[in-house]
Amino acid sequence: MPVYEYICHECKKLTEVKTSYEEKEKGLDVKCEQCGSNNVKQYFGNMIVTANFPLH
Ligand SMILES: [Zn+2]
Repeated sequence: MPVYEYICHECKKLTEVKTSYEEKEKGLDVKCEQCGSNNVKQYFGNMIVTANFPLH
């Protein structure tokens, strides 16, 4: 299962979200796990794995 990272604009902390690609496409309600804000944006600076990019 891929891990998506979101960065919070309020406290600048990263929140990791583990979800399926299908769930993400449907739209996630992501909240910052530090401060509870939903003012978050997906962060691509340290991508661990992507569902659409098989390595083998
Ligand atoms: Zn926050």
